[in-house]
Amino acid sequence: MQRKQSRRIIGSFAAAILLAAVLIFSLSTCRSKQPLDPMTAYRPDMRPEAISDLDLAYVRQLPRYWITFTVNYKDRLLRGEEVVRYIHRTDTPVRDIYFRLYPNLSYYGGSMEVNRAVLNGSVVSFDYSVDTTALHIPLATALGNGEKAIISLRYTLKAPAKPDNRYTLFGLSQSVLNLPLSYPILAVYTPGGWALNSGLPMGDTLFSEAALYHVTATYSRTLTAIHPGIAVARKPMTSTGEVRETYVTGPVREFAFFLSPNYHFVEKNVDGVRFRSYYLTGDGINGNIASLYGMAVFRIYQKKFGFYPYRTMNVVEAPITYRGMEYANLALLGTDLYRGKHAHQEFLLSHEMGHQWWYNMVGNDQVTYPWLDEGLTEYSTTAYFEEVYGRRRAEQIIHQRWEVPWQSLVQSGLDAIVNQPESAFRTGSEYETIVYGKGALFFNALRQQVGDETYYRILHTYWLRYKYKTATPEDFLSVAEEVSGENLHGLYRKWVLSTSSG
Ligand SMILES: [Zn+2]
Repeated sequence: MQRKQSRRIIGSFAAAILLAAVLIFSLSTCRSKQPLDPMTAYRPDMRPEAISDLDLAYVRQLPRYWITFTVNYKDRLLRGEEVVRYIHRTDTPVRDIYFRLYPNLSYYGGSMEVNRAVLNGSVVSFDYSVDTTALHIPLATALGNGEKAIISLRYTLKAPAKPDNRYTLFGLSQSVLNLPLSYPILAVYTPGGWALNSGLPMGDTLFSEAALYHVTATYSRTLTAIHPGIAVARKPMTSTGEVRETYVTGPVREFAFFLSPNYHFVEKNVDGVRFRSYYLTGDGINGNIASLYGMAVFRIYQKKFGFYPYRTMNVVEAPITYRGMEYANLALLGTDLYRGKHAHQEFLLSHEMGHQWWYNMVGNDQVTYPWLDEGLTEYSTTAYFEEVYGRRRAEQIIHQRWEVPWQSLVQSGLDAIVNQPESAFRTGSEYETIVYGKGALFFNALRQQVGDETYYRILHTYWLRYKYKTATPEDFLSVAEEVSGENLHGLYRKWVLSTSSG
């Protein structure tokens, strides 16, 4: 009885296991039939606290790029193919789509050609415009609000070699092959149509929407690659001596890529963010100092402006003399700042890091309203210097860096309106004094008028409302008025829309 019963128990136990196995199998089959959430691919680049950003309706509609490219470092050649998903999001239907080919800008000196275009599965014709810096694809049927286009482009790029002592944003210099903006980038559709104006060498070039990237790059194993986002796969290719890496990003403004046989890095962890400082051979001491400054700036900005959502941030030594430059997840500092001019490293880094908030996260048309990100980023440095060195140091910066040069322009009768496009400025020094200096002084005047607490509440609200979006000067002004409860038009008119003579 006992045995019989136990045999029955064993029998029913086996049946239960079988049933469970069938259930698990059928459940897993069911699950595999459900479409995977496409946003899952980008999660590795988001900090746990920010993963839900990928579920925002707006973020799900952002452009997505799947790019595969191979770089021949020696010949400075890149061959690539990209698939881009574009969702049109305005009520005005479009009959064309434009991409920007920034390497063809005369001051970049590259040569980019598109060899094949496929639209929604069919090969289509295309032509170039704006001095070959724009690619125009006519659409057979208009694209309305919420409608989607899938565009595949095959392209080649030859990058120039430039002298080692020159400011080199693009091309080979000091052993670094600089490849920012090295793929066809969707132009931005604005209320005035596709934005196709180009910047000037003294200002920023790119105007783009935030987008999600999945990139596979193949390059020589002797090189170190620097890129935004995070590597999710790496495969050495023994037959060719190359390596193939796959990266994903959260919503970022662009995918920049840098290669050199001479890069080294120090890596730290800042509250779960992988913080790297890349430096060239021989510059280790200042590479380490840049890392320390960078982490301090990062912590302060995150506290004052808003949570940094990505898993990586990098400070990068680059062949841009004594200047700085911003890209998504990357703050570039010129080699001179590691070799003699290092007294300026801290200030420039505090500026370039600020662009992660005011450029990468909150975007704006940098060619038409350069002051909106540059003035705010420049003034944001005071948040760092005040916290670390006290209010007096911040006041010195305000006076020496912005007030003195601007007052000198005023006295020479050369004061200019802040809210102007890059092309309105005649010289680099006028551009810097007005867009950066007088632009920063507007934010200083705003802070004095509304008080510290309200000022930072304005910045935080602006960041939260326009994160991964594109803001205009009017958007900033309306957030400032809403949060402060004050009419700020007079202040705005005085600093941003007028000259000292009226
Ligand atoms: Zn800047």
